Formats: sequence, C-alpha cells, structure tokens
Amino acid sequence: MKVRINHCLLGGKPAYDVQIIDRGATVRDYLDALNDFIREHCPPCNGCTACCWERVPLTFPDVAAFLRDEHFRRQFRGHPSPLLSFLRRYGYVYVEGPVVDIGLGFRPDGSCIFLDARRGRCSIYRLRPMVCQTYICRLTTRRAAALRSLVVNAGMDELVRRWLAESRRCGEKPVMHEAIRPRPRPADYPAGAFGGAEDFACVPLKKLCPSRLWRSLYHDTRESR
Ligand code: SF4
Ligand code: SF4
Repeated sequence: MKVRINHCLLGGKPAYDVQIIDRGATVRDYLDALNDFIREHCPPCNGCTACCWERVPLTFPDVAAFLRDEHFRRQFRGHPSPLLSFLRRYGYVYVEGPVVDIGLGFRPDGSCIFLDARRGRCSIYRLRPMVCQTYICRLTTRRAAALRSLVVNAGMDELVRRWLAESRRCGEKPVMHEAIRPRPRPADYPAGAFGGAEDFACVPLKKLCPSRLWRSLYHDTRESR
C-alpha cells in the first residue's frame, strides 16, 4: 500500500484524510486507496443518486479507460479518432473564449448520461471517472481536498490538450456542444504531469504536488519506526 486514507473527525463529524507513504505512489494508488476506503467504511448509497446530477469533469485517462473497454471500443472501431467520437457521443464540451470544460454528457433532466435512474445506480461503475471515484460522502481535510482538486484539474487539462491535438491531426473543427466566442489555444494546455499518460498508474503524485503540499501529505513510515 502506497497511499492511506485515514478516518478522522472535523468539528466532531466524520471526515477523511490522505497520507502518502511511498515516494513512488501514483494517481492509481490514490484511487485504489479511496476505493478500498469507500468499500470498507462508507455505507452503500442505497439508491441515493444525489452526486450523479452534478457536472462530471473528465480527465484524459478516464476517456482512455472507456476506450480500452470492449463495449466502447467496439462502438468507435474504425473511426478516425475514437477520442473525438467518444466525446461527441458521451461528453459535453463547453468553450467560452479560451476556457475549455470537458465533462460527461447529461440528460435533459440534468442527470449523468450513465445514471441508471430506474435502478438508482451507476451503469458503468467500474469505469466511473476520477471525479466520481474521488468523491467520498463525508468531510475532507484541507490537504485531501487540495490533492483531489490538483489531480482532477491536471487530468482535465490533459484531456483538453489531447482534444485539440486530435482535432488538428484529423483536420476537424474541435467537437463543441456549447460555445461562446470560442478561442481555445494549445499554448494554454501544455503537457503537464499527465502528459502522454494513458493510465493513472503512469502519473506519480510527487510530480503533481507542489513541494509544500507534498511535505504535508508524505509521511515516510520507515523513518518514524
Ligand atoms: S456518494 Fe453520492 S450517491 Fe452515494 S450516498 Fe453520497 S451523495 Fe448519495
Ligand atoms: S459516471 Fe456513474 S457515478 Fe459518476 S455521475 Fe455518472 S452515474 Fe454517477
């Protein structure tokens, strides 16, 4: 185990904190630790779908995971760009001036495109995006919230970078579902810590975290023995 999610209390209410215990920990280790914590400590959603009616930002490895899955891969086989086809069909690309926001698509009632409202559950739970996997229904320490926001934002920027690059490669106008004077600029989306990564396991947390946040999150258990 390279990342630990710890139970704690904030103002007397249940909360969680994050501790990185291995310098080589990746975003995949962080997600695995969160998923283990949810399984072991959080009551089942039992039909509650409250967080499936909000905007669901997408990161590049989220889309890559969908496209590795046989069900989705089959749908876009032979397309010039499966990434752009996926975004056209299941995403929602909003552009305002230079700012780009890519999320999952939603239905007219505002529910996530993958919500099975009749059964009250996610229809693609195993593939649910990072923002869904990192949502824990309890309070969060400041550093845990900072890590979540950093990881999600960096992964989103990488998706925008790939969306622009793929559109250019295919000679297509970028897919947009809603746009107000769009002026997306590749220079605003340089390759960061997620650059080129198809999987969360390829992104070290240390590369993402500014040194102050890293010092607050990293705890070498060998040193404290
Ligand atoms: S995680 Fe979302 S769906 Fe589950 S109980 Fe919490 S708000 Fe409801
Ligand atoms: S992907 Fe699944 S868990 Fe995430 S918002 Fe949609 S239905 Fe809910």
